[in-house]
Amino acid sequence: MDARDGADDRERALEAAHAAALDWLASLDDRPVWPRASLDEMLEVFGGPLPDDGRDPAAVVEQLATGAGPGLVAIPGPRFFGFVIGGTLPAALAADWLVSAWDQNSGSAMLTPTTVALERVAGEWMLDLFGLPEGASVGFVTGGQVANLACLMAARSAVLTRAGWDLGEQGLRGAPRVRVVVGADRHGSIDRAVRFLGLGRADIVVVAADDEGRMLPDQLEPALGESEEPLIVCLQAGEVHTGAFDDFAALIPIAHDRGAWVHVDGAFGLWAATSPRLAHLTAGMQAADSWATDAHKTLNVPYDCGMAIVRDPADSIAALRTGGDYLVYTGLDPWDVTPELSRRARGVPAWAALRSLGRAGVAELIERLHDNAVAMAEGLAQIGGIELLHEVGYTQVMFRMPSDEQTTALGAAILAEGTAVVTGAQWRGRAALRCAMSSWATTPADIERTLAAIRSLAAA
Ligand SMILES: *Cc1c(COP(=O)(O)O)cnc(C)c1O
Repeated sequence: MDARDGADDRERALEAAHAAALDWLASLDDRPVWPRASLDEMLEVFGGPLPDDGRDPAAVVEQLATGAGPGLVAIPGPRFFGFVIGGTLPAALAADWLVSAWDQNSGSAMLTPTTVALERVAGEWMLDLFGLPEGASVGFVTGGQVANLACLMAARSAVLTRAGWDLGEQGLRGAPRVRVVVGADRHGSIDRAVRFLGLGRADIVVVAADDEGRMLPDQLEPALGESEEPLIVCLQAGEVHTGAFDDFAALIPIAHDRGAWVHVDGAFGLWAATSPRLAHLTAGMQAADSWATDAHKTLNVPYDCGMAIVRDPADSIAALRTGGDYLVYTGLDPWDVTPELSRRARGVPAWAALRSLGRAGVAELIERLHDNAVAMAEGLAQIGGIELLHEVGYTQVMFRMPSDEQTTALGAAILAEGTAVVTGAQWRGRAALRCAMSSWATTPADIERTLAAIRSLAAA
């Protein structure tokens, strides 16, 4: 293939992708939200041995677009309320296409000044929106899981350094024991990150939580114990079932008094800080040492994008800075504050989302998600048989039917009917259904449409 044919192929392939993307987006309001094909059916569509001969690039894109539909889930649509997921703002989606076209390997400003600058600015804007310390490091990683991991890597090396142990030099063997203190309703990604750190379940101390999943402040001090062992305390902004926030103002001083590093998992909850109406939920969280959050959930950028935020960049660097004789350091580069070397400029869509919304638009988005949650909860409460399981303080709504069987059956019926997606959970030993308001695209009419569908399914 010569360069001219290549340019022509590229143009036709991109045009095919553009047309297919617009078709997909136009289908979102009417298609069943849950997929209509199984994994096996999709393997059938795309599988088989790799053919010997190549195919025209535009034809490949058309084949993808034609085959994909039945197995796609309408996540960017207005009535996907499963897990905590979020859609894609127009500016973020288009910027993400540019990121692919630019193809910048964004580890260091020495190589890719434009994308590193955009990520740095997006990070500074977020620190400002969250009220976090100027000068904290912001590493754009794949999501909340890796953000928790990167922050806890910084935490582990910092608390060991304070205990006189150089983790980089000496490793974990023979190191002072590090204990990780967590709430009973922490997200599973915290335990997984702890495991990745080379620590085990035996190193985790669980503090009891209240009915909504908040760590009980009077239980923290006893859990910290008497010994001088290094401590990491993990708090939470936004419990995944109830949306509840830990009482940071009460908890962080207790942890800091004992010399603990305090980490906040705020995958979707940190965004409450951007709204004058909801910021009270995060009061006091600014005193922590690290914070994990996502852009692909509440900020509505495409997958994947999360942020690992560390108060003192020296702690990120100590844990994460890369080595290599051929690498040049220019200051605080993405590869100093993420576990990655080669990396996508995933902060660029976040920059575009923030720029398209502006400060007021971010607050308005978060408040709209909360208002949608309140409207959904009020509507659900009026449906016979449905019981709400918590106060709606943020974006989450959890409910159930009189029996676990009825709850599970209603959940399955909602997915089969297709108007909306809600997903199941276990809460305090019983089956529940969860609605997470995460999409910019959801309107009051979408809440009404969803309630009408659930009303008739619950009656049946
Ligand atoms: C979603 C979530 C995570 C994990 O984030 P990913 O982006 O899925 O990696 C961690 N903590 C909480 C509270 C979450 O809601």
